[in-house]
Amino acid sequence: MARVYNFSAGPATMPLPVLEEIQAELLDYKGSGMSVMEMSHRSKVFQQIADEAEADLRELMGIPDNYKVLFIQGGATLQFSMIPMNLMKNGVADYIVTGAWSKKAATEAKKFGKVNIVATSADKNFSYIPDCSDLPIDDDADYVYICENETIHGTTFQKLPNTKGKILVSDQSSMFLSKPCNVSDYGMIYGGVQKNIGPAGIVIAIIREDLIREDLPENTPVYMRYDTHANNGSMYNTPNCWAIYVCGKVFKYLKSIGGLSAMNELNEKKAKILYDFLDGSKMFNGTVEKEVRSLMNVPFVTGDAEKDAAVVAATKAAGFDNLKGHKSVGGLRASIYNAMPIEGVQALVDFLKKYEEENA
Ligand SMILES: *Cc1c(COP(=O)(O)O)cnc(C)c1O
Repeated sequence: MARVYNFSAGPATMPLPVLEEIQAELLDYKGSGMSVMEMSHRSKVFQQIADEAEADLRELMGIPDNYKVLFIQGGATLQFSMIPMNLMKNGVADYIVTGAWSKKAATEAKKFGKVNIVATSADKNFSYIPDCSDLPIDDDADYVYICENETIHGTTFQKLPNTKGKILVSDQSSMFLSKPCNVSDYGMIYGGVQKNIGPAGIVIAIIREDLIREDLPENTPVYMRYDTHANNGSMYNTPNCWAIYVCGKVFKYLKSIGGLSAMNELNEKKAKILYDFLDGSKMFNGTVEKEVRSLMNVPFVTGDAEKDAAVVAATKAAGFDNLKGHKSVGGLRASIYNAMPIEGVQALVDFLKKYEEENA
């Protein structure tokens, strides 16, 4: 077995102990005589898997009782549509556009109502987070939308926007469970799990109960209604059983290492190793403002596309995979999610240091 250090932005690396547990349980899940992939989602044994996954997530994040936890398919992308379809009552929403993902979400929301872009960092290729302390929030806005960690650009909100009393909806896909989160600051938090939690195929939506409406337009597709999922324990139809099972394992793993505070401490240590190197490097530069640098996604460049490509090739040959940057930023991007061990970040930095010395 030769596992590489996988810096992919998503689907992404997962904790090895979780993969090993899954492997051990693959053919015969706890005496059921079958794999979780093969069992009915209506079976007792699967219901227990789903119930435990939800309970463990609630415990990890301290989710208040008046929030529902929904497991929905369709990725974060489906939420770009479901959010306006379900939350736009007045038909107005305010979007803060700090990168590719919030831009996509805003573009989709325009199909359902009036979208105000109340702040954006588009003028500098999304390399910073605008001041969100006094935004022109629309009196009629049903919600204010952010992407809290922009996976492609590598920025993160250090402070939540002042929504002037409107509810906040946050896409946490690439930072989900990376640090403690005060759920009651939000109307809704959601994220695709394939970045920082488990395998691709589900979104977890944490939504305040009073925002789940029943009075939606008659022609709203049944799958696109939050009440469908909320009223059926996320099993109106066949859920992604496998992803729920694996996410549940990751929740238990996070609990076993001390929960989200411990995870955050480790994530800060990991990011510091990489950012300290970039700050001291003559060859590599980070691409975003220091104060808003992401703990999860770290883009950096040499300033020369050919050199960037050579570095990517050299890292790959040395056992560091998926470091090629997104085309809109170029260069390299190291995604150092929860499951990337600190040894992986240290080994990458050691390699880049040596590369810089040898190629100066
Ligand atoms: C990856 C990503 C998405 C899109 O996720 P899909 O599950 O592929 O739809 C949306 N938002 C953020 C922040 C992401 O990182």
